[in-house]
Amino acid sequence: MNDKFLECGRLWQLGPDWRGQRCGAKTRAGTPCKNPAVTGKARCRMHGGKSTGAKTAEGRAKLSALHLKHGRSTTAAKAEAKRRAQVGREIRAELRDIEREAIAGGWLAKTWKDQFE
Ligand SMILES: [Zn+2]
Repeated sequence: MNDKFLECGRLWQLGPDWRGQRCGAKTRAGTPCKNPAVTGKARCRMHGGKSTGAKTAEGRAKLSALHLKHGRSTTAAKAEAKRRAQVGREIRAELRDIEREAIAGGWLAKTWKDQFE
C-alpha cells in the first residue's frame, strides 16, 4: 500500500505525514483545520482557499475598515507625526540659537541651567 492511507475504506494520499501546506483556519473546537490547503494559498477549499478576495469598492472598503485598529499607523497619521517632529526640531534649533546669542551678548549666564537642579 506504499505511502497511501486508508480512511473510511478509501485510499487517501494526504495522511498525517503529508508535507504539504495545511489549512490554518480555526475550527469550532479551536484547533487548526489541517485539511490540505488550495495550492498557493493558506486555506483549504472549505475555508476560503478558492476565494479571490473582495472585488467591489464597497467590499474592499469594508475589509479595510475591519483591519484598521486605531488609525495611528495610516499613511496620513505617519506623515502628520513626521511633520510634528520636524516642527519640534525647528523650535529646539531656534531656542538653541536664542540661548547662544543671549550667552554671547551677556544677558544669560552660561550656567543658567544649573539653577534648576
Ligand atoms: Zn480548512
